[in-house]
Amino acid sequence: MDSQSVLKDVFGYDHFRPGQRKIINHVLNGDRTLGIMPTGGGKSVCYQLPAIMFSGLTLVVSPLISLMKDQVDSLNEMNIPATFINSTLDYRDQEERMRYIESGAVKLLYAAPERIENPEFYSWLCQLPIDLVAIDEAHVLSSWGHDFRPSYLNIIDPLNQLPSQPAWLALTATATSRVQDDLVKILDIPDDNIVKTGFARDNIALKIERGVSKLPYVLNYVKSHKNESGIIYAGRRKDVDAIYEYLNEHGIKAGRYHAGLDDEERHQQQEDFLFDEVNVIVATNAFGMGINKTNVRYVIHFTIPGTIESYYQEVGRAGRDGLPAEAILLYTPADLRLHRFFIEQSEADDDYKRSLSEKLREMNQYAMTEVCLMRYILRYFGEITEENCGHCSNCLDNRETTDVTDDSQKVLSCVVRMEQKYGKKTVGRVLAGKADVASDWRNFGKLSTFGILHDWTLKSINEFIEYLTANGYLITTSGQYPLLRLTKKGAQVLKGQATVARKTVTIRVDQVKEIAN
Ligand code: ADP
Repeated sequence: MDSQSVLKDVFGYDHFRPGQRKIINHVLNGDRTLGIMPTGGGKSVCYQLPAIMFSGLTLVVSPLISLMKDQVDSLNEMNIPATFINSTLDYRDQEERMRYIESGAVKLLYAAPERIENPEFYSWLCQLPIDLVAIDEAHVLSSWGHDFRPSYLNIIDPLNQLPSQPAWLALTATATSRVQDDLVKILDIPDDNIVKTGFARDNIALKIERGVSKLPYVLNYVKSHKNESGIIYAGRRKDVDAIYEYLNEHGIKAGRYHAGLDDEERHQQQEDFLFDEVNVIVATNAFGMGINKTNVRYVIHFTIPGTIESYYQEVGRAGRDGLPAEAILLYTPADLRLHRFFIEQSEADDDYKRSLSEKLREMNQYAMTEVCLMRYILRYFGEITEENCGHCSNCLDNRETTDVTDDSQKVLSCVVRMEQKYGKKTVGRVLAGKADVASDWRNFGKLSTFGILHDWTLKSINEFIEYLTANGYLITTSGQYPLLRLTKKGAQVLKGQATVARKTVTIRVDQVKEIAN
C-alpha cells in the first residue's frame, strides 16, 4: 500500500496537510529529517503513518509522560498496535509489554527520554528491529527552545548507536532559526531534510485587549459564546482557581486544570472538557499539550505568556478543525513582573536567563505592535510576509492614523547622536531630559536631542521607542546589554525618505496634569 492509501484507509483523511507528504517520503527513505509545523499542523501523522508502513518498530521519544496513554489509546482505537513504557507502570506490566513488543506485534512504542538513558532498557532496545526514531517536541533539546531540558541531550549518543540504524524524525512547532540551527547540529540532519511549513493559521483571528477589567471581560465573553468550547489560560494556579470560582459563581459551568490538583481530578476535568461535559476550561500551561480536541473555538490568555513560542503553541489549540476561531490576549504590563521575577530567581546560567528576557521582550512587543498580529508572529519565526491576515484586532483597528514622522526623527536622531551605544532606558531618559543622565561623564545634556520630548511622559516615550522597534525602525542588539540601533528603514525615515504613521495617541505631560486635576 502507498502512503496516500494508508492516509485514507487507516486515518480516514483524503489529503495530506502541507509538509506531511514531504516529511513522510524522507522518513520512508530512511533519512534523518526535521519537521517544523505549527501546533495543530498535523505532526503526529508524520511518524504514525510510516510506522504502519515499516516492517519493524517505531520508537517515539516524547517528554510528555502524562500524554502517552492518551496517544496510545487513540492509536489503538484506530486499530494501530501501539504501547508505552514509562514510570507509571508497575514492574509486571512493563515486563509484559516488553515481551509483547519482542513478539513483533507492536508498531509504535512511546518512551520518555529518561527511559532511554537507563542502560538496561537501552540494551533491550538494541535488540529490537527499530526502523524509525521519532523525537516529539524536539525543541526541548535546544537551549534556544522555550522549554530547554539539557538532560535530554544524553539520549543522542545512545540513539546514534542503535544497531538497526533507523531513520530519525525530529518534530517541533518552534520555528526560530536558532532552534532550527541547534537541532540540525545536535541531531546531524542534512539541510535538504528540513521540512518547514508555513506557520500562518488562517482560521485563527488574533486579538489583543488592553486595559480591560479582566474577570468581567471573560465572563461576558464566555456568556456570549455559551455553546462554544474554549480554553482560558492563566499564569498561576491561584489565578486559575480564582477565575474558575468566579465563572461558576456567575452561573457558568467551567472546568479547571493545573498541576496542584490530584491526578484523578485533573484527569476527570480533562475528560469533561474533551467530551463536551463542560464547554470552558480554565488552565495553566500544563493543559493542552497533545490534547486533540478539534472544536475549540476560542483561547483567552488571562495573563501574558513568557514567550511567543508558548503563546502561539497555546493559541494553536483553537480551531484545529479549520473552522474560524479566536485567540485573545488580555494585556496589562504589570503581568510581565511575574515573568521577570521568575527569570531572576531561576537557577539557570546567565546566557539562558538573557535568552528568556529577550523572549519576554519580544512577547511584550507583540502586545504593543500596531502591525498585523499574524504577520508579527510569522516574522518572529523567520517567515517574512507582506500580506496582512485581515482579521486580527490590528487589521480591524480602523482608528485614524496620525503622521508621527517628526517625532520618529527626534527619537532616531537621538539614537544616532548617542552613537547607537545605549539601551532603550537611557535613550528614553535623554529624550525626556532627565537630570540623572544630563551631567555625568557621558555629557548627554549637551546633545541637541536632550529633552527634545520633555513634554511627553516617560511612559509615552518608552512606548514610542517600543513602537518604533516593533515596527522595524529600530532594533536591539542581542548582547548582555541590548543596545538600540537604527535599521535601514529607520535610516530612511531620518533622511526624510519615508514616513511613519501611528494610531496610538501620545499622552503629554500637561494632559496627565489635567487628568489629575
Ligand atoms: P500537532 O501535533 O502538529 O499539533 P496533530 O498531529 O495533533 O497536530 O494534528 C492536529 C489535528 O489535525 C488532529 O486532529 C489530526 O487528527 C488532524 N490531521 C492531521 N493530519 C490531517 C490530514 N491530513 N487531514 C485532516 N486532518 C488531519
